[in-house]
Amino acid sequence: MKYTKILCTVLTLLVPAATATAGKLRIVTTTTDLKSIAKTVGGEKVSVSSIATGYENPHYVQAKPSFMMLARKADLWIRVGLELEIGYEELIIDGSRNSGIRIGTPGHLDASEKVLRLEVPKTKVTRELGDIHPQGNPHYWLDPLNARIVAASIAGRLSKLSPENRQAFEKNLAAFQKALDERMFGAALVKKIGGGNLWAMELKGTLNEYLTARKLTGDLGGWLARMRPLKGRKIITHHRSWSYFVNRFALLVAAELEPKPGVPPSGAHLLKVMKRAKTENVGVILLEPAYSRKAADLVARKTGASVVVCAISTGGQKEATDYLTLIDLIVSRISKAATK
Ligand SMILES: [Zn+2]
Repeated sequence: MKYTKILCTVLTLLVPAATATAGKLRIVTTTTDLKSIAKTVGGEKVSVSSIATGYENPHYVQAKPSFMMLARKADLWIRVGLELEIGYEELIIDGSRNSGIRIGTPGHLDASEKVLRLEVPKTKVTRELGDIHPQGNPHYWLDPLNARIVAASIAGRLSKLSPENRQAFEKNLAAFQKALDERMFGAALVKKIGGGNLWAMELKGTLNEYLTARKLTGDLGGWLARMRPLKGRKIITHHRSWSYFVNRFALLVAAELEPKPGVPPSGAHLLKVMKRAKTENVGVILLEPAYSRKAADLVARKTGASVVVCAISTGGQKEATDYLTLIDLIVSRISKAATK
């Protein structure tokens, strides 16, 4: 009896150290976008699985026993946060019986910690407002700047869990950020000005002025150059999934098909949306693949707008094989539809 007890204690002490050094760090992320970023930053030092697949509604994922099994063996759990996973995360972590990934432990990373947030409610959140998240809109990954921030948070946490691999994680992080910056601003401009400087100006709203003054406007490439002609263009979206993308690329949401976030479209609300679409001259209705096309098609038929079905997560459509190709896909779908 005594022997068993001692053996158990010894084993418990040994196991975390053994997993960190012997094999790869096992990461479980709630979403595929976090998986994509964690895989890039962790490289060959990690193995990553995601709970969600990328094409379901990210608010509603079933807490299946297989997810608990996956979480049981995890060294690190990464969530989007801002209550996106409120319906299933606790069930999975509890069911996993893995105390190393509980909230507040080093094995639990809330990726929202340092991101830029939008739509943080200023008044008390009540049910009547729909599915409003008290800490802000959780769909923040569609702003490339937030993906850059998330990648840094993941690299920091991986270095803490596996300090001997710090250099590799930092190198991978720098490579991801460079690739993202080049996709955003174009390689020529990143080479001349530096990605960090470009983001700083983009945030201050001084980038255009700077490029014009230095006659560098022609060097602007990437997503920003492709989206530039669409600045101020009004679109309709189904759910409030696009706020961060719309904000970064200066589009405007004229209306949403959902009367309140998470509340399905109603006939009365859709009539208002159609009116709005006509007076505001909306040409594009953006629809996440997880939602029914019915409301979007109806509004499109009555107003002449076109429906653009587009993934909001890696894996949501076949072209979106990782985070960067997801944003490639969104940029190309929207710009194609809006310039038609
Ligand atoms: Zn949402």
